Amino acid sequence: MAELATEPIVYSFTDHRVYREESPLVIAEGEGIRIRDTAGKEYIDALSGLWHANLGFSDAELIEAATSAYRRLPAFPCALGRGSVEAEALGHELLAAAEGRFSSVYFAASGSEAVESVLKFLWLASNADGTPDRKLVVTRDSGFHGTTLGAASLAGIPNQHAGFDLPLPFTVRVPRAHYYRDHLDGESRAEYVDRIVRTTRGRIEEAGPENVAAMVAEPVMAAGGVLVPPEEYWPAMDRLLTDLGIPLVADEVVCGFGRLGPLFGHRRFGLRPAAVTVAKGITAGYAPLGAVLLGPDLTRSVAGAAESYGVLGHGSTFGGHPVAAAVARAHLRALAERGIEARVAALEASLRACLEGLLELPVVGEVRCVGGLAAVELMADGASRRPFDPERRIGRRVARKARELGLIVRDLGDVLALCPPLITDAGDVAEIVSRLRAAITATLKEET
Ligand code: PMP
Repeated sequence: MAELATEPIVYSFTDHRVYREESPLVIAEGEGIRIRDTAGKEYIDALSGLWHANLGFSDAELIEAATSAYRRLPAFPCALGRGSVEAEALGHELLAAAEGRFSSVYFAASGSEAVESVLKFLWLASNADGTPDRKLVVTRDSGFHGTTLGAASLAGIPNQHAGFDLPLPFTVRVPRAHYYRDHLDGESRAEYVDRIVRTTRGRIEEAGPENVAAMVAEPVMAAGGVLVPPEEYWPAMDRLLTDLGIPLVADEVVCGFGRLGPLFGHRRFGLRPAAVTVAKGITAGYAPLGAVLLGPDLTRSVAGAAESYGVLGHGSTFGGHPVAAAVARAHLRALAERGIEARVAALEASLRACLEGLLELPVVGEVRCVGGLAAVELMADGASRRPFDPERRIGRRVARKARELGLIVRDLGDVLALCPPLITDAGDVAEIVSRLRAAITATLKEET
């Protein structure tokens, strides 16, 4: 057997083969959008940790909210009919921020747990409503929804299933919206959307819409490659789901809390989801918290089921932790007071302007940008959409080179994802893109 590289920590989403060549990057401290490793080397973190540290790494108001909450009540659950002042208040504030579209909030401790919870609530609702066959869930290629058994089953990314005996057989897989990679030669965006929405309808009709509990979808796919859908996509999908009587669950674990501009990502596309899952940015990453916002129908069904079974047989010790809730409340206040939507619009404009400059490199096939999310898709030949041989692992090598140059980005295959803290200003965006350009150029020079 080959000798294995081992580390005391089982790092997630990591290619463990790299431990033969390099050690994990261990961060000691952060300030603003910059982090420093144990050797004192500084990096701009253009991924906000793992798409979550939306206010950077030294926000005084959030730190103060956490420390004062720790002094008042450092631990308490939302369970057994008991909760904390902070969790209660946050529940009300989230529902108010959603302008009355949702009727209740369930607190979890992570995004996976939020998604897993909504899947269980959908099934509970189907049973309570006398439609026990309504258990299938529509999900898209390249989607990512977390790592627990149900949430990972929704994934449209092969490495989420390989070796785990997944997916569980409750999913109906439909196409992603990735015009640049998937359109046929000569096909317009509108024609492409028309085609994939027809395919989506076909797959759902084959499964039987009456057997489908919901579709779970990210408004903009993040881990699948920062896939910004063509503008025709969500309106067409909204019509399709309405026509088939299928509720939408918006997974806003990345897209929520200003990442796309508005507080809730679905607003950017005018969607009306029946439920929303959030986590990550809800506390700007300063404490673990997830939540499910349930619309009136799901609220009624879940409450009805809980009553008829005598208890809601689902819960979480850390869900709605009082310190995390206090941080989320401070974050909600900060987003409103600091005019985050306007700041994100400015961030989007500077990201777009700088990234478009990269299109002059022949290996840059497409740049994508929406709110504070962006991606650079590398291709052996961008114009003809000819990909690099995956064996060359170009994306991984560019990300490693960027790290040497003091920049953290995420390689998703040959897509380089950017998700900088929402406080990143135009000067820092220029610096990020300049380091990224240098990393791309240097990597390709090493090749020749
Ligand atoms: N949904 C989406 C859209 C995500 O991007 C993620 C995490 N990257 C999750 C769910 C799972 O969140 P967590 O890692 O907090 O479990």
